[in-house]
Amino acid sequence: RLHNSIQELKGNIRVFCRVRPLVDGGNLKHIQLPANDNKTITLAKTEESHTGKAADTHKNYNFSFDRVFSPSASQQEVFEEISLLVQSALDGYNVCCFAYGQTGSGKTYTMEGDEFDQSRGVIPRAVQQIFKASEKLGAQGWQFTFTASFVEIYNETLRDLLYTGKANKRPEHEIRKSTANEVTITNLTYKSVSNEDQVLGLIELANQNRATAQTAQNDRSSRSHSVFQLDIEGMNAGRDIKCKSTLCLVDLAGSERMVKSQSQGERFKEMTAINGSLSNLGIVIAALANKESYVPYRNSKLTYLLQGCLGGNSKTLMFVNIAPELDSFGETLNSLRFASKVR
Ligand code: ADP
Ligand code: MG
Repeated sequence: RLHNSIQELKGNIRVFCRVRPLVDGGNLKHIQLPANDNKTITLAKTEESHTGKAADTHKNYNFSFDRVFSPSASQQEVFEEISLLVQSALDGYNVCCFAYGQTGSGKTYTMEGDEFDQSRGVIPRAVQQIFKASEKLGAQGWQFTFTASFVEIYNETLRDLLYTGKANKRPEHEIRKSTANEVTITNLTYKSVSNEDQVLGLIELANQNRATAQTAQNDRSSRSHSVFQLDIEGMNAGRDIKCKSTLCLVDLAGSERMVKSQSQGERFKEMTAINGSLSNLGIVIAALANKESYVPYRNSKLTYLLQGCLGGNSKTLMFVNIAPELDSFGETLNSLRFASKVR
């Protein structure tokens, strides 16, 4: 239990920054990561001065986070830093982990990764760890049941990513909250799972479900949130103890600001929905960090859906994913500012 008390001292919200490698494998230019320190990142702006004064030609933006991962950090190194957090879901804590950043910054790579063993992301590694640890706890009389669900939020509408029925029979979904503060989604597929392969199968199914929506609408997945949830119920009959918790792993919609004049109709609706839900997520996490009495969960589907596993004694981690290309400078600065504000 030592690790739990350490985490409590540090507070329940942490932010990790991860810089994606350059596509051509080159060196970072405007992003500085000090070699002797893995908690800070500096964005350096050098531009032609308008006034000719030297002070205007160079500006550094410094940020510090709980951890900053350089482009060379492997999926395993990243997971090692969050494995204690994942482990605490088995101790009865609710755990939420988000990936925030512009499209192309590495959110899906971080959360899902590729199918190759080494490039597996947080979701498969987390469930693997949980299943392994639960087997060990079995020897001490614990019995666990695991239930997975996978839902997409697009334009404030929920879509079941584990749906296998006829396309024209897709049910609609509503978020319901019980008096015990438990959130359920009506008509959603909840799958009982007990091993990693089953969960990999669900990720595959979710990708197929995304692909069918994608054909009708190009690049839709970058404009929707994907929420993977693993509900954990443990029972120790011999010692008459029960515990219940949820591990929630979220690949957020791209945070890039779209140009207003270029977005009309459907695009405008999407932009409004994404901006609204991401900024509300920031407000909710900041309100929790500051222990404010009012937390506006209900202002967006995402926070309403996550209400049960954000707040209380839950543990929250946000990845801010960064694209290293110079033309992403503005978006990178926005993302780093957003991530600094939530703590
Ligand atoms: P996002 O989900 O934020 O839009 P992706 O995760 O799809 O971004 O990443 C964009 C591309 O960069 C993908 O081809 C992905 O495989 C690759 N990529 C992202 N992060 C890394 C990384 N840390 N190492 C290697 N490739 C990466
Ligand atoms: Mg993605």
